[in-house]
Amino acid sequence: MLKKYSWLYVIMLVSLLGLVGLHSYFAYQDYQAKEYEYQQQVNLSFEEAVAAEKEARIDTFIAYTRSLFADSSKVEIRATYNEEKGRTHFSLKDTDADSPYTSLSYEHDKRKLNHLDSLNFEITLDYFMESVRSSLNLGTVYYWTQDLGKKMHDYLDSTFYDERLLGEIFQEKLNKRNIRSSFEIREVAEDSLEHPEIAETDFQTEAFQSEFPGRKVIPVIAIMKNPAREIFGRIKLTLIGAVLNLILVGLSFLFLLKVIFKQKKLSQIKDDFIDNITHELQTPIATLMAANEAMSTYHALEDPEKSKRYLSISNIELRRLSSMVDNILMSSIHNRSNMALKWERVDVQDLIKLCIFKNELKSDQQVKFELDLQEGPLELHTDKLHLQNILDNLIENAVKYNDAEIKIIKISSGEENGQVQITVTDNGNGIPEDQQEQIFEKFYRIPSDVGKAKGFGIGLYYIKTILEQLKGQINVQPAQARGTSFILSFPLDSHE
Ligand code: ADP
Repeated sequence: MLKKYSWLYVIMLVSLLGLVGLHSYFAYQDYQAKEYEYQQQVNLSFEEAVAAEKEARIDTFIAYTRSLFADSSKVEIRATYNEEKGRTHFSLKDTDADSPYTSLSYEHDKRKLNHLDSLNFEITLDYFMESVRSSLNLGTVYYWTQDLGKKMHDYLDSTFYDERLLGEIFQEKLNKRNIRSSFEIREVAEDSLEHPEIAETDFQTEAFQSEFPGRKVIPVIAIMKNPAREIFGRIKLTLIGAVLNLILVGLSFLFLLKVIFKQKKLSQIKDDFIDNITHELQTPIATLMAANEAMSTYHALEDPEKSKRYLSISNIELRRLSSMVDNILMSSIHNRSNMALKWERVDVQDLIKLCIFKNELKSDQQVKFELDLQEGPLELHTDKLHLQNILDNLIENAVKYNDAEIKIIKISSGEENGQVQITVTDNGNGIPEDQQEQIFEKFYRIPSDVGKAKGFGIGLYYIKTILEQLKGQINVQPAQARGTSFILSFPLDSHE
């Protein structure tokens, strides 16, 4: 069997392994694509966050600078319109200084001013702050006046990038991109950029410059903690699909193998059955032929004694043949699921007695029957012929599989909890516990009984199947000392 189907196992195994390989390959590809996408998103978020934190700091610096420029007790700002050049010139000086420090004009400023009222003062400060911002972005802070320049430089020298704020902005950017991994922000010394110490499972972003140009270089990186978990979350559906697919294919293969084994077992059983029955049929046929031949050839008919003997031999063999045919018929009849049943009221006690009587008539063995029947009639609505067959079979087996010197069969019947129970107990060879279910299978015989007692393994299968239609049940259990008990139970009101 194993050899015959080995190519099938190989194909199944190879295709299963192939499927596992393909799914793993696609899952790996998917993982890599998602990992790349994740890293891109994290890098972009961090770059945006670093720029936004820097911008926020510049805003604060500009607000501070503007307040310095607006303080007229410290700075004096004058406007003079130059007819020749067609522009307003602004000059700035510290109030305590003698001469202006800075003088400038804006090409696109079309105002003609010789005096700064409060509105024009604000507009002029806007122009100045734009200049401060763009020069800062180029890495320079001009000395507009001695005092202003010093204060602006002092301010910048005492403020650094705000890691907490950067973290908050980064978190916000990550949230927007649905990234939930936790992270840590680190400053890195420029020369150690190549080998930052991070766990193998973590992901490190590119380094971005957290300071304005011209200031001390502070590259920062973000370290994402164990991003694999999140990336796996993104390919969850692909993974679940692959696993389900593999489970389904594996299960179908298993099911297929089971069916093949079952079919093989059935065909083996059928072969055995045919061998068995051919062998069983040969003996009575040969005996009958010999008896007939003896009668016709050796003038046995003229000797009444001999004729009687041959006839009785023929009778016994014919009965054997008939019971074999009965058995085979039973096994094929009940295959039709809804065979016609003849429902009628049956007195169980009478039927048991009839079966015992029949057995005593045909059996040549010494059997002791012990009856424990409920007093009075015990009626059941059932099919009499089938119930009789069931009891006949059980009694036959109780005798057949019994090596005891004195074969004792105990039959009890009674009513219990709305059920009619009939128990047939023998003091026979017993049935091993691991075979108590198998004996009800078609053609099954306990291996040690094959060859010892005649049979086809049909009787108990027939009983089990017909009982399903009679709404009854059969259970088997070991008898107290030795032997087996078969317990039949029927609901009292079945088919009433
Ligand atoms: P058969 O008797 O024709 O072999 P059955 O279906 O009646 O078929 O029984 C199936 C098998 O169960 C028997 O071959 C026998 O091994 C075992 N068996 C049945 N009844 C008994 C019993 N009372 N005691 C021991 N073994 C039994």
